[in-house]
Amino acid sequence: MQSQLLIDGQLVNGQGATQPVYNPATGEVIAQVAEASPEQVDRAVLAADAAFTAWGQTTPKERAEHLLKLADLIDEHAETFAKLESLNCGKPYHCVLNDELPAVADVFRFFAGASRCLTGMAAGEYLAGHTSMIRRDPLGVVASIAPWNYPLMMAAWKLAPALAAGNCVVIKPSEQTPLTTFKLAELAAGLFPPGVLNVLFGRGAGVGDRLTGHDKVRMVSLTGSIATGEHIIAHTAAGIKRTHMELGGKAPVLVFDDADLQQVVDGIRGFGFYNAGQDCTAACRIYAQKSIYPELVKRLGEAVASLKIGAPDDESTELGPLITAQHLERVAGFVERAKALPHVQVVTGGEKVKGPGYYFQPTLLAGARQEDEIVQREVFGPVVTVTPFDDEEQVLAWANESNYGLASSVWTRDVGRAHRLSARLQYGCTWVNTHFMLVSEMPHGGQKLSGYGKDMSMYGLEDYTAIRHVMFKH
Ligand code: NAD
Repeated sequence: MQSQLLIDGQLVNGQGATQPVYNPATGEVIAQVAEASPEQVDRAVLAADAAFTAWGQTTPKERAEHLLKLADLIDEHAETFAKLESLNCGKPYHCVLNDELPAVADVFRFFAGASRCLTGMAAGEYLAGHTSMIRRDPLGVVASIAPWNYPLMMAAWKLAPALAAGNCVVIKPSEQTPLTTFKLAELAAGLFPPGVLNVLFGRGAGVGDRLTGHDKVRMVSLTGSIATGEHIIAHTAAGIKRTHMELGGKAPVLVFDDADLQQVVDGIRGFGFYNAGQDCTAACRIYAQKSIYPELVKRLGEAVASLKIGAPDDESTELGPLITAQHLERVAGFVERAKALPHVQVVTGGEKVKGPGYYFQPTLLAGARQEDEIVQREVFGPVVTVTPFDDEEQVLAWANESNYGLASSVWTRDVGRAHRLSARLQYGCTWVNTHFMLVSEMPHGGQKLSGYGKDMSMYGLEDYTAIRHVMFKH
């Protein structure tokens, strides 16, 4: 199992403290990996800065060719990637292989093409006797910080646009889930010029702070928690670094009485519990119109109870374990506090699963109220609440009454209502009669405490460039 860092084109062992890496399905240690030392962090940043001189001047075509080759290598090694991700995250293997890996390769292919299609305002004489033109140039060294819930996919979302735009990158995966990023480092080592892509390993408070605070780093891109986002913004403020923040979410799901209830039930069963609910867009905060509320709770309860929880290598498993023992306790704590409220009913689930691994039962809680912690805060586990509502204005107000602003969905057959609500929901994404679906061409990103900046799409590529004006006097 590859567990080396990639610094200046060389695969090297970390020289810092050793960290255990776990299999969440069993609780066993699967690797001991040494963190980057402070000197290694500095070396990676300086290597990226040195490499930028040449990489920043490559043509989009050259960069695209590198990204396309990397996408091909990911396809070739898809089974290895899927095994590592499944082992390290507890994800069902078949889900990683069939859902995540194709999407990862596609992100590199999309940005390969996108890098050749950047647009801007037409050059012209906006001042008589002068010609103005717009440039979109790379920024330099980008520090990318990825989370544990989709380690390889988040690495792809960060690396592909940054490299496509001509930046050099130092990426730090989560210390809990580094294995697929290490594998990616191995493949990239022989592909990119030394220093263009560097991979570190280590915890946030040591390696992370050293990296994001380095004065050669011009941009920091984070996908992670709000607390880490706030910390990085403060930590990089003195250096006036550009930041790109993809933080938490608590997606409202607005179900009206004219919705196709079977579609709603199937949708929430899938989109509320995929990746054991450890997803920033998970369909977890259901609002159901009063007339259909009892029927929805009943059918959803049956559907959620039918989810198959089990070993990641079992083809029939739909839900694996949570990522760590600590996260399992956090999720269980949210559910215990909700259960203690007299108005909350446990329709199904609600308990940790006995035995090895960090499993939590797929859980449906009904009767939750708008002001309840379980409705307001991100649980990041297989836990969905249902809250009854009276009318459109009430549910819109409740949906928007949240610190989060990442994803939302509206379920109705009324096209006018779907448009009205999509226009007024304060979320980076609103789906109508579906949820969770992402495509490389469309932007993903939040508002409010969910952050700012876009992943994927042309907007994502633009986020990794500087807009510049060049003016010629005739
Ligand atoms: P986290 O904030 O604990 O960790 C994320 C990354 O930040 C890790 O690599 C961690 O080592 C690093 N980090 C922590 N402190 C740091 C510091 N001081 N300096 C630099 N790096 C530091 O988050 P997590 O628990 O790994 O991920 C779960 C969170 O991510 C959830 O809140 C989830 O909603 C969010 N998330 C958001 C999106 C999105 O697209 N908006 C996608 C996936 C996950």
